[in-house]
Amino acid sequence: MIDLHLHSTASDGSHAPAEVVAIAAGAGVRTLALTDHDTVGGIDEAARAATDHGVDLLPGIEISVAWERRTLHVVGLGIDPAHPGLLALTRGAADTRINRARAIGKSLAKAGIDGALLGASDIAGGEDNLSRSHFARFLVAEGHAKDNRQVFRRFLVRGKPGYARADWVPLAEAVGTIRNAGGLAVLAHPARYKVNAGKLRRALEDFRTAGGAAMEVSCGGGNARELQTLAGLAQEYGLAASQGSDFHGPDKPWARPGKLLPLPADCIPVMDLLTRR
Ligand code: AMP
Ligand code: MN
Ligand code: MN
Ligand code: MN
Repeated sequence: MIDLHLHSTASDGSHAPAEVVAIAAGAGVRTLALTDHDTVGGIDEAARAATDHGVDLLPGIEISVAWERRTLHVVGLGIDPAHPGLLALTRGAADTRINRARAIGKSLAKAGIDGALLGASDIAGGEDNLSRSHFARFLVAEGHAKDNRQVFRRFLVRGKPGYARADWVPLAEAVGTIRNAGGLAVLAHPARYKVNAGKLRRALEDFRTAGGAAMEVSCGGGNARELQTLAGLAQEYGLAASQGSDFHGPDKPWARPGKLLPLPADCIPVMDLLTRR
């Protein structure tokens, strides 16, 4: 089994990198990529755990990018986690995150919810790499929403309390950085962006033009219909197909390591490109 999209406590996952590897290996995953948001901080620990468990770990990252005034996610697979250009990008993203986290805290305070920045930092184990997921867990713990899903309907999104914009790197810059770091760029969970079909196609076009290699076709929580649609788009845009659960932990129970539909036979698996490099 292959799972090329997993999160740890290095970003907004609930389990430490070594635990993620152990959970994935226990579920039967033999090849995995740790793809934390905008950081490679968990990879060394995950690589050691992978050796212990006899599984293959691909160094990865999930970069938040700006495209047409919205945020898309680009996964980098097989990157060199010590590449200077990639590390510079992650430092920029870390600045963006702390500035946005402060703005989120202020916005929630204005809505009568105090202590959110401190609460989210406690949950994250520090102010580094604060994610909206950490604020979401704080809001659930404080009784402002019943679960993660409800948080992202009532808070933290445009037009709601706790929303703050973030200036992520442009799509083309992120793809270029992944390639410079020796990796393949993969458009993450294309069905999850709230865009119409035409706009998604424009994104795929721009992603391909920027040097993107693949898109996720089999995604955590995805169904057979979605799989077929995404496989068709991958073919149309000349992109290889990736598969990743987007495992985070108990916050997202539908995304379990390795719990993925198999890629349709007419797809070019991104693993083929990775092993051929
Ligand atoms: P950030 O990168 O800090 O903006 O946080 C985005 C993260 O929040 C995503 O990677 C998801 O883990 C989580 N998230 C965003 N939207 C939702 C949603 N509708 N339901 C559950 N989790 C979400
Ligand atoms: Mn996340
Ligand atoms: Mn994502
Ligand atoms: Mn993800």
